[in-house]
Formats: sequence, structure tokens, C-alpha cells
Amino acid sequence: MSSLRDRYAVSGMDSAPAPRRTLRAAISCVGRGLHSGADVSLKLVPAAPGTGISFRRTDLGLDIPARFDHVADTTLCTVLAVPGARIGTIEHLMAALAACGIDDLLIETNAAELPILDGSAAPFVFLIESAGIVEHAGLRERIEILRPVRVESNGAFAELHPHAHPHANAGSGFDLSLDIVFPAPAIGTQSLSLRLTAETFGAELAAARTFTLAGEIAALRQAGLAKGGSLDNAIVVDGEKIMNPTGLRWPDEFVRHKLLDVVGDLALAGAPISGRFIGHCTGHRLNNLLLHALFADAANYRIVGMHAMFQRVAA
Ligand SMILES: [Zn+2]
Repeated sequence: MSSLRDRYAVSGMDSAPAPRRTLRAAISCVGRGLHSGADVSLKLVPAAPGTGISFRRTDLGLDIPARFDHVADTTLCTVLAVPGARIGTIEHLMAALAACGIDDLLIETNAAELPILDGSAAPFVFLIESAGIVEHAGLRERIEILRPVRVESNGAFAELHPHAHPHANAGSGFDLSLDIVFPAPAIGTQSLSLRLTAETFGAELAAARTFTLAGEIAALRQAGLAKGGSLDNAIVVDGEKIMNPTGLRWPDEFVRHKLLDVVGDLALAGAPISGRFIGHCTGHRLNNLLLHALFADAANYRIVGMHAMFQRVAA
């Protein structure tokens, strides 16, 4: 494989292909579903090269691919579905897997939503790092953005752009920039930009918790939702006050969490994205619409990976 990689580098592409990765061993945890309030088991299981990431409802015996075209609902979290099975609140785990560079994995669970844990992605990063990461056969594909794609709704927007200098060394990463505006003074206007790596995700995004407005909790409970919600797994904002006794992990924890959600939602592209993301007040729905818009026109992107490499080497 190393000789192929050398030939690939010599062929003039902007970055060498990376091996695919999975976990070294299976690892499990148990937690509470945010909306159901029920105990949920989660098991991350190494998967064969090239199989990608999928969820298995062990209580139903059905598998659900972790892909954008299986998103069935984005009202409060991102929900994937196939006929007969759903799995919700997947975005924090998907973000952790994308940041840690996991390509192939089977995610087993016995309920319709993943455990919320502390409301952030940090416990998932801990699970992944505890299990260990291994390179295995096959090469990772990536999705290179070739021209701008934009979706918008009520003043919010989400965009993907090509790198400004696609043949420079910077040309293969994913740069993200997001700003959010909330009327609650405790949140206000917040912005954040970073290049996604395991290190930046771990240091800047992973521990940022989901949040809710105090005024919305009663409505959620009346709708039979957020039964598992508490100050242990969500920030609760009331105007200029933070209701959690331990306060915030960062003053701008809110934009950090929204960017974490973007990383998780866009991980449903099925491979790492090479390009730039720019978002304004975006959420699960727009993030998913952005992937639909990206893949709706083959001129928007190209898949760079093993097949492209073999073509290039053969030429
Ligand atoms: Zn979230």
C-alpha cells in the first residue's frame, strides 16, 4: 500500500489517500434517551473495510445506513429511518466519529434514540479513544467540493465552497465557519471558525453541550418529549440566566455546540468533505438540505479516492 501511496503522491494530486479506519475493539455504554427518558444501550462494533457507518436496531433486527438520504426528521434532533425502524439523536456520535476519522463501524442500539449522556460529544470521543482506532484495508474516499452550494430559510443559510487554492496543501481539509444569533441575552451573537481535525474537535467542540430555552421546556414535555432532559445533559437558558448550577464550559458554548451539530449532520455525506462550510443560524434541517443540494448535481463535487487513484496511476 505504501508504494501505491508514493505513486499517488508523485502523480500530482493534492494529498495522499489515507487508509480506512475502524475501532480496535467493540465498546459499550448505557445512558438515557433525551426524549423517551428510557435507558438505552449503545455498542460500537468494528466493521469490515468499505462497509461505512450504519446503525443496527438490535430490538428490531434492522440496519439503518448513516447517510443523509435516510434522514426522516430534523425537528429536534437528526433522525435516520428505514421502513420499520428509526434512530434519533445521532448527530453527536456522528460528529465524534467524523472527527476521529472512523470510516467503517456498526452502531448497535436497542431503542429509537441514542443515549444523550452529558449532552455533548465528549463521552463518545472517550469511548472511541478507549476502544482504540485501527487502520484496515482499503482507502478512504473524500468528497471534494467543486463549486458553491447554498440552501437558505428565513434568513438562515448553509453553504459549501471549494477551497480557494485546491492544489495547495490546505486543499484536502474541511474548514467550518458558523455564526448564531439568539434573542436570549445569555446567548446573543456568537461566531466560530476552525479547521476540523481530531485535535480541534477534541479541544474546541466535543465538550460543548446541547441547550434549550427555559420557555420551551413545558411545551416539549407536553408533547411527550424531553422526558430524559435535565440540567445534567443540557444547558437551560432563561433570558440572561444560565440555570445550570455549574454554569457554562465556555462563554460561547452555544456556537460550539451548533458547530458540533454541523459536523455530525454533514458526516452523513458518507465520506469526509474537502472544502469550506459557512453557516448562519443553521440547524439540523438546513444541514441536511445542504447535503441534498450538494448531491443533487454531480457538477457540485467529485469523489476522490481509491478508484480515482487507480485511474490516475493507470494513466
Ligand atoms: Zn446537538
